[in-house]
Amino acid sequence: MPSIFTKIIDREIPADVVFEDDTCLAFRDITPKAPTHILIIPKREIMSLDDLSDEDEQTVGRCVMVASKIAASEGLTDGYRLVVNCGSDGGQEVPHLHFHLLGGRKMTWPPG
Ligand code: 5GP
Repeated sequence: MPSIFTKIIDREIPADVVFEDDTCLAFRDITPKAPTHILIIPKREIMSLDDLSDEDEQTVGRCVMVASKIAASEGLTDGYRLVVNCGSDGGQEVPHLHFHLLGGRKMTWPPG
């Protein structure tokens, strides 16, 4: 079932896109939890980490590489956090796999 992120990929709803290639799309989170909060998503409709198949390996790898490149372009030289929420206990709200790139402030551990 298409989520709101599919609508962003299809440009049916607007987003502040910071990166796009054939595999991934990255855009700023609408309610940022850090000074830099960017979501990196595969264009392929994958609901969550639990829905990955072997053929998604390159796609996931590409998303992680893109996150690292965006962190550099955003000037996150002191570090950042890359988070994937999975399922209800993981706090996932949007059923389309996404990587949260958070930076620009000191993160705490453990997360809440
Ligand atoms: P989750 O809780 O599923 O890991 O994270 C979903 C994220 O998507 C949240 O941080 C939320 O703010 C963000 N989000 C939800 N709807 C939209 C939207 O329409 N546009 C953008 N840019 N971000 C969204």
